[in-house]
Amino acid sequence: MRNVAKSFVRPLVRRLEPYVPGEQPKIKGLVKLNTNENPFPPSPKVLRAVKAAVDGRFRLYPNPTAEGLREKLAALHGCDRDSIIVGNGSDELLALATRAFVEPVAGGVGASLATVQYFTPSYTLYPVLADIAGARRNPIPLAGNFGLPSSAELKARQWDFQAALTFVTTPNAPTGRGYATADLEALCAAQRGVVVLDEAYVDFADDNAMPLALRHPHVLVARTFSKAYSLCFQRVGYFVGNAELIAALHKIRDSYNVNGLGQVAALATLDDLPYYRRGFKKIMATRERLSAELARLGFAVLPSQTNFIFARPPGFPAEMWLQKLRERKVLVRWFRDAAIKDFLRITIGTDAEAEALLRAVKLVWRERG
Ligand SMILES: *Cc1c(COP(=O)(O)O)cnc(C)c1O
Repeated sequence: MRNVAKSFVRPLVRRLEPYVPGEQPKIKGLVKLNTNENPFPPSPKVLRAVKAAVDGRFRLYPNPTAEGLREKLAALHGCDRDSIIVGNGSDELLALATRAFVEPVAGGVGASLATVQYFTPSYTLYPVLADIAGARRNPIPLAGNFGLPSSAELKARQWDFQAALTFVTTPNAPTGRGYATADLEALCAAQRGVVVLDEAYVDFADDNAMPLALRHPHVLVARTFSKAYSLCFQRVGYFVGNAELIAALHKIRDSYNVNGLGQVAALATLDDLPYYRRGFKKIMATRERLSAELARLGFAVLPSQTNFIFARPPGFPAEMWLQKLRERKVLVRWFRDAAIKDFLRITIGTDAEAEALLRAVKLVWRERG
């Protein structure tokens, strides 16, 4: 029976390799530094607003376009609310972009119109979204030290300047590297298709690319309340960009794609930004201290513009470090991909969590061999 049922599934879906999110283990006392969550809770005002919204209104549908939230975000970014769409996390919007802007390969269109392009390493959801859309993937390796390739390097690497959709994570994950807005603008200017600048970690960076979304009709900037604003649980992200592109995404989204409590939480977040900015300062200070300490212990630590660091541990393979740290109840992230298999990605937690990590690192190092 099972095989018959399988035959109902589209061949494309049968072949899909799904996205693998970081683990969320429930181990008591675990120092969890593997999924780039903010170690600080949401502002007390946000928690109060959410609790106060748990009442009879659950019976009703939420605002279908997250209008109040779009209004407030428009004021924050100095644009019109028609330039904003809110999603069930920015992941939903990245998926909508592949549906709105990319043709399937099987549609018989030119290769570029069916191309989803991105750098490697970057966010590993992009290839999965390309596969779901039946599109052609065009993964292009970053330059040395995970920097943006120059235009000559892009050409040599088969970069597609006509690609229907290009995703750029900036600052990048998992490398933590920031890109200068001027370099991103040059990249966007050379691009004929839509470019999504995925700024999930921008609050921990020196620079941001929002002006590009307000200036160029083919550039969208993706932001999320998840990481910096301690709201992963609520699933709220948004795109800013040209009103025509945004209107296309509104057409194909689900009618009530952003749940009511998520809208309440995000609105209250925007009313208490100074609370969050204090947290960013702490996280960035811990990031710098932890980077220096790990460097002293023999790690090759890349400079970070995010709430995590990317570092090559000394002595034995990174995968072994992952296991040994895990045995000491510290969970970090390791990627099997050949280009980055020698690195660990470590989320910046509280100072106490950084201390726990350093203690575990020293123990692992002392007990080696
Ligand atoms: C975490 C992350 C997202 C997803 O954010 P959500 O708003 O929680 O869906 C998008 N892009 C990158 C690069 C991320 O790291």
